[in-house]
This record gives sequence, structure tokens and C-alpha cells, in this order.
Amino acid sequence: MKIDLRSDTVTKPTPEMLNAMMSAEVGDDVYKEDPSVNRLEKKIATMFGMEKALFFPSGSMANQAAIKLHTQPGEQLIADKYAHIYNYEGGGVSFNSGVSCKLLDGNRGVINAVQVEEAINPPDFYHSPLTSLVSIENTTNKGGGACYELTEIKKIREVCSNHGLGYHLDGARLWNALVAKGEKAIEYGAIFDTISVCLSKGLGAPMGSVLIGNAEIMEKAIRVRKILGGGMRQVGYMAAAGLYAIDNNIHRLAEDHKRAKEIGVVIAKLPFVKKVEPIETNIVIFNIDSDEQDFITKMAEKNIHFYGMGQGKLRFVTHLDYTQKMHEYFLEVLTTIK
Ligand SMILES: *Cc1c(COP(=O)(O)O)cnc(C)c1O
Repeated sequence: MKIDLRSDTVTKPTPEMLNAMMSAEVGDDVYKEDPSVNRLEKKIATMFGMEKALFFPSGSMANQAAIKLHTQPGEQLIADKYAHIYNYEGGGVSFNSGVSCKLLDGNRGVINAVQVEEAINPPDFYHSPLTSLVSIENTTNKGGGACYELTEIKKIREVCSNHGLGYHLDGARLWNALVAKGEKAIEYGAIFDTISVCLSKGLGAPMGSVLIGNAEIMEKAIRVRKILGGGMRQVGYMAAAGLYAIDNNIHRLAEDHKRAKEIGVVIAKLPFVKKVEPIETNIVIFNIDSDEQDFITKMAEKNIHFYGMGQGKLRFVTHLDYTQKMHEYFLEVLTTIK
């Protein structure tokens, strides 16, 4: 039994999801003639109460397209220092949009409205880059699956509106936040200008993200997607996996969260574990005072795999393919490890 806790991206389609894919109706999506893609886009737009949604091959491309829609070269966006768009999208912010980032020192990847307001460059001070976009992440990736409070998200909205800034949500793991906090997609749709959501993490589809927004800003999204090389043809097979995932795999994220918390309880008692960060969703980040690589190797010998984040920091991520049976075995191994 191989236990893979490296990421929630390692999941493989179940037979039921494969069935849905195999029986999908498809067409040429570059001509907008793929009925399955059209259905997925409509369904997600409706869930969020926004006018338009567009299917992308990856979350990075959906975020990069959003940044392009909100900015002009030379301008600046505001994000947390841990932001995926800054750290893990290959420098796309500057490559694709010619934009710089003002990074804020948030709490586990979560920033607040006061910090955002202070970071805005005065628009008449032409020596500084013009601030044009605020991008936040919910849940936070590098921040360990932390969730925003909706009240703070709304306060940041006010700051954006007062200063004429775009407001983007990198919602790769928004599904986890919705389940953990008991929130609704439609509440998010009412706040943001654009939202990206991912189908291939906790929801278990093999690929795909969706960018959602209102008609005016989304009008240019299809052109930007084409420029980035994201125009796809009979991709309804993948959209069908996404539709299946939306219908079947959102509520069960609560199981991933429960297992993550249970792992946290066990590791907190291990003598070499220094600190476990708060566990809000499906990511467990903790520090050990013994050798990080040594621990990883020992666990790999038991066929348990996960990543180190450097400086004694380690991470487990629970997901759809991490079963109850694996969970019980894993907790048992943890208690015997020295
Ligand atoms: C995974 C992730 C993305 C997108 O990743 P892709 O691998 O490009 O699909 C974007 N933002 C966050 C916070 C993520 O965790």
C-alpha cells in the first residue's frame, strides 16, 4: 500500500469519473462547440452567480489570464509573500503581464484590508508603479491551507472599490474553504471581479481550472487564453470529469479535513515534533528538530511519501485517494517512528 501525501494533485480518476468522461458529448471548444465544456462553464458561473466562466488547462494559466485582464505592463499588483502567483507560476506575472508584485507580510498567507490600503501607491505619484490589482488566495497553499474570514475579504473589497483596483481570488482550493467554513460559492461571486477554481486538486479531476467573472472583464479572457496557448479542442472529456467532480466530490472534502486534523493530533505528541501549525483544511505543516531528510527517508521505507519544505518544515496533504485504511495504517506507523 503506497501512501502519497505529497499533494492533493496526485489523485487519479475513479471508474465512475472515467465513465462520465468516456460518455461525454464533445465538439471543438475553440469554436465554443463543445457541449460538455459549455455545460461546465455555465454550471460554475451559476454556482458563483457570475456571468461568465472559461475552462483553462491549469490553475496557473487561469490566474495568469486574470492578471493580464486586470493590468497593463509596468503596473503593480498586491499579494501575500506566499502567493502562488508570485512563487509558483514561473515568474509569469512579469513574463506574461510585465507587472511587478508588492508582497505583504501576511499571517499564513492571509492578508488584511489595512495592509492592502497601506501598500497602494498614490496614483498621482508617477515615480512608483501604478497599483491596479489585489490578488488573494483562499485557502492558502504555502500558508498551510489557512482560510480567510469572509468579513476581511469584504473589507479588502471596499479598499479595492475605493481605489479603483481589480480584485482577484486564486481559489485553487476555494472548495476546501467553502466546506470548512460552511460558506457558499455565491457569496464569493458577489465580492470578486475574477475567481479561479481548480478541478484537479481536492476534487480529483485529471486536469482543469475555471476562471469566472462578469461579462465585461471576461470578454477578453478567451483571447488571452488563446495567446497563452490554452485554446483546446475536444476537451469535453476533461470537462465531463470536472462536472462529475463538482457533483460528487465537494462535500467529501470534509473527510480530508477530518483526517488532516487527526494526523495533527498524533504528530503533536511525537517527541521530535517542535510545532504543528493550525490545521483548518487538508494541509498539515509542522516542524521537527531532528533531521528532515532522515525522517522523510524512514517514512519512505514504509512506503509513505511527502515533501519537506526546508529548514525542518514538513508537509502532509490529504486527498480523495488517501483512504480510511491508509489513514489508520499511517497513524499507526507515526506512533512507532523514532
Ligand atoms: C495548485 C495551485 C494553483 C494552480 O496550479 P496548477 O498546477 O497550474 O493547476 C494556483 N494557486 C494555488 C494556490 C494552488 O495551490
